[in-house]
Amino acid sequence: MLTERGSLGLLKMRQNWDDSMFVDCHIHVSLDGKDSKKWRRLILEKNYEPIKDILNLYKKKNILILRDGGDNLGISRVARDIATSLGIIYKSPGWAIYKKGKYGTFLGKPVSGIDDFKNVFAEILKVRADHLKVILTGLVDFDCYGKVGEIAFSKQELTYIVQSAKEKGLPVMIHANSALGVRMAVEAGADTIEHGYFVTEEELHLMAERDVIWVPTLAPLGNILENDRFRRLYSKQIKVIQRIFDEHLKAVKRALSLGVKVAVGSDSGSSGVHHVQGFFDEVRHLKKCGIYEKEIYKMAFENGLKALGIDDKSQFF
Ligand SMILES: [Zn+2]
Repeated sequence: MLTERGSLGLLKMRQNWDDSMFVDCHIHVSLDGKDSKKWRRLILEKNYEPIKDILNLYKKKNILILRDGGDNLGISRVARDIATSLGIIYKSPGWAIYKKGKYGTFLGKPVSGIDDFKNVFAEILKVRADHLKVILTGLVDFDCYGKVGEIAFSKQELTYIVQSAKEKGLPVMIHANSALGVRMAVEAGADTIEHGYFVTEEELHLMAERDVIWVPTLAPLGNILENDRFRRLYSKQIKVIQRIFDEHLKAVKRALSLGVKVAVGSDSGSSGVHHVQGFFDEVRHLKKCGIYEKEIYKMAFENGLKALGIDDKSQFF
């Protein structure tokens, strides 16, 4: 198996900036965005061929650096091994953590409080996680504009969790929606904010000040809006989805004007967001903020590496 250093070397030989090397900062290899039930069944049968095929496709499309948002099966670790053998840099959280009884069952392991976290965190360290993924809030509610699943951890719990990761040198990736959720995540010391739906001007300022990277994941909603089948499926919610998406685009635009570092993460694997294509979908949706494509690719690469904790980009040139 290649070490990370080895795979970087391989990338250096194969790539240069001109033929565009891409970074997708937010994927879930445990899901396929089409029929995730079937996909997970294959994984449980230890059939990893589809994962290998997907990773080969990522490689073919020059998406050579990936960060996984976690799963409860620990499959992102298997994917990391396969990816490394293919010369792809693949960052795995081991498992995401979520508050017992709240949103996140298929993404990671539940923790009921700080004591419980200590045990799960020890397991996460044992499997050499590359980052800690914390699910702080629930999902965006398509039935009611502005509503998201509740904040699951207390401020004290979240601060403890984030600091524990920092002490071990792990970057922290926090799934957070709502102004309050995002604020809490940033104040606790998150390195990256995932989703961040309903973020307001105040949190954007805070993110810019603290140099926190934002991964707005536009593709899950953007793809629903562009797809007739999904539009029919969500016919009762489509107006709310459109409004949420439009406001999110405005927030991304504002974030960029304030100097917030935005990275490209597709949330590939979530419903309607297919692996590999998801990255290009996310780029397409980001263009709706009025950013030039070239600028988005530059942002994807530079902020993507930063999100993944890869500081020495000189090795790519
Ligand atoms: Zn995700």
